[in-house]
Amino acid sequence: QFPLGRRLPCDIYWHGVSFHDNNIFSGQVNKFPGMMETVRKITLSRAMRTMQDLFPLEYNFYPRSWILPEELSLFVDEVRTTKDSNPSWKPTFIVKPDGGCQGDGIYLIKDPSDIRLTGSIQSRPAVVQEYICKPLLMDKLKFDIRLYVLLKSLEPLEIYIAKDGLSRFCTEPYQEPTLKNLHQVFMHLTNYSLNIHSGNFIHSDSVNTGSKRTFSSILCRLSSRGADVKKLWSDIISLVIKTIIALTPELKVYYQSDIPAGKPGPTCFQILGFDILLMKNLKPMLLEVNANPSMRIEHEQELSPGVFENVPSPVDKEVKVAVIRDTLRLVDPQKKRRKDI
Ligand code: ADP
Repeated sequence: QFPLGRRLPCDIYWHGVSFHDNNIFSGQVNKFPGMMETVRKITLSRAMRTMQDLFPLEYNFYPRSWILPEELSLFVDEVRTTKDSNPSWKPTFIVKPDGGCQGDGIYLIKDPSDIRLTGSIQSRPAVVQEYICKPLLMDKLKFDIRLYVLLKSLEPLEIYIAKDGLSRFCTEPYQEPTLKNLHQVFMHLTNYSLNIHSGNFIHSDSVNTGSKRTFSSILCRLSSRGADVKKLWSDIISLVIKTIIALTPELKVYYQSDIPAGKPGPTCFQILGFDILLMKNLKPMLLEVNANPSMRIEHEQELSPGVFENVPSPVDKEVKVAVIRDTLRLVDPQKKRRKDI
């Protein structure tokens, strides 16, 4: 760590939040310029829309989305037209503020007129998206998957996907959305940061029980029920590759502006967090891409009222240590030097 500034050049620079140091002329940085901006909810939705317009079938793993406030009337019109042509369609939508995280400011609606137009939406742009009403459940609970993806290089495009990830569980049994249960965040939102506050949250020392489990433990259970987990993995791999392809044009613009070709500069790599929801029919759907996935391997535990302590989290350790270790192996500068020699 260099709290007072760096003196000697390094092989690998590990930046905390984003690519921010333009005085690096060699080595590798663990962030791409502009990645944070590129994966924000609105920018991601726009990039996915562009690809959905060009390749609708290839990109049907991202829910239909509209950008607020600029596409509010388009949203209202499209929902009305679809309802007119199919009166049995009873959709639910999820509104997510741009730049938000950890479920912050998210709410569900049944009708476009329920969008909260007062105050915040004007000052805070958002994405409104079709809500996936039939997720795959386990133990009657909704869960999502966090997968770690290493973007090792943009040109040529090199992507690695960690073989294990995390599954984060809701803490109230799932019911399809109705006006009565729309507000129940412990039933509809899988965010760890929200569910940790539920009395039903289960911290477990085992990686295949509790409110946070390994994705491999989910695959094991699915496989024992006869599900085709090979096909699921191949669908997930396509989803990841297609998403990164959709983000690449914007990333290249940032890259060329911060690290112009021909000038000495570092190369970049980045660990991304992909949030994926499995539908009941096992189709993976992309929820969002996180440029700064948490690498914490501890969680807070309330020892006595008001007294908290950080304790090790075996499931986080199992997954995240492997992600960092394999990333360092893949970008190993010594290996690169040995290869060059
Ligand atoms: P945040 O960055 O605030 O976590 P997300 O886009 O990840 O925002 O959404 C938060 C949670 O809401 C997700 O983890 C998931 O449980 C739920 N969610 C988000 N989008 C959808 C959707 N289209 N359909 C069903 N559930 C969703």
